[in-house]
Amino acid sequence: MSTAPSASVPASGTSSAPNSDVTKLEHSNQNSQVLGSENSDAQQVNWESELQLVSSLAKLQELERKVHELRQFLPEGLLEPLVPEKPAPDSPAQLRNDLEQATRARLAGVESFQSLWRGTEMKPVWSHVESRIKESNGDLIQPTGMWEKDYDVLLKELIKTEKTKKEDIEREQEQIERSKAQSSDGEWQAIVERFTQRDVPGMRVVKGQDPFSVSAVLAKAGMIFSIKGLQEPGVPGVSEWQVSSEPPPGRSPSKLQHAVQDCLNSRTRKWDLAFLLDMVSSYVDIKQTTCVKCNRLADNSAQLPTIRRVQSTQPSQNNPPIFTFDTLHLSCA
Ligand SMILES: [Zn+2]
Repeated sequence: MSTAPSASVPASGTSSAPNSDVTKLEHSNQNSQVLGSENSDAQQVNWESELQLVSSLAKLQELERKVHELRQFLPEGLLEPLVPEKPAPDSPAQLRNDLEQATRARLAGVESFQSLWRGTEMKPVWSHVESRIKESNGDLIQPTGMWEKDYDVLLKELIKTEKTKKEDIEREQEQIERSKAQSSDGEWQAIVERFTQRDVPGMRVVKGQDPFSVSAVLAKAGMIFSIKGLQEPGVPGVSEWQVSSEPPPGRSPSKLQHAVQDCLNSRTRKWDLAFLLDMVSSYVDIKQTTCVKCNRLADNSAQLPTIRRVQSTQPSQNNPPIFTFDTLHLSCA
């Protein structure tokens, strides 16, 4: 461990590395390679990855910051209740109590440092350091005693860049799919046919009289939705599918149906009829489907979960893909 002066320690002082994000990226973003360690539980880490290096440096930097903090343990931390600036305790018993509390708090700090140092997150970093020391026969780069960069900040930037990259790819992908769906006036009919062939229980889809119109009937839920496609001038196919509620025979659409309609119309991929039909089908058992967040059917105001959120990882075995959705109460979303 280098003995950097405390001036080099970031002033922010918070340990806020978004660990779960990093771990996710660390594991997704690499061709795994087993570390050069005899340790049987050596984790698979890609040390070529910049993200891996920066996140490890951020962890080391955070540990060093904590070392500086622990240096205040004796005598300042322990004797804090005795500093003259503080109001004198009311009684010797009170002073004893204050001292005891100060000691407990400081010991807890030491324990948390130890568990961080020996924790599973640091393990691969330490074995990497060890293997590098071995490789170089102990001939190490001499530290300047200063951290040249604030790796916590660098790490956040890196994660942000990775996220933007991922979003760009997704946007491009959607653009390709959209162009395909809008390649001809007839593409939507093929989508309706494919959906009908899947025979989704509890849902019937019927082509309407007008061009670009479909009815979706959810028998068990007692709901009928009318779906109409809007076109942009000069572009074939449909630019946006809109959903409206059709009253069941002899009745007007329920409040529940209107809530479902609102959620359907606030979806993403408004051009995508296949996505919309999958989303409508997620309501076939609306009166039996519990909320993924609170696991209940009705919330405190007796509302059923009407919100649907497309799952970020879609099962990939279907081509074209079938979208799946999470069920949520409006109050839980
Ligand atoms: Zn809920």
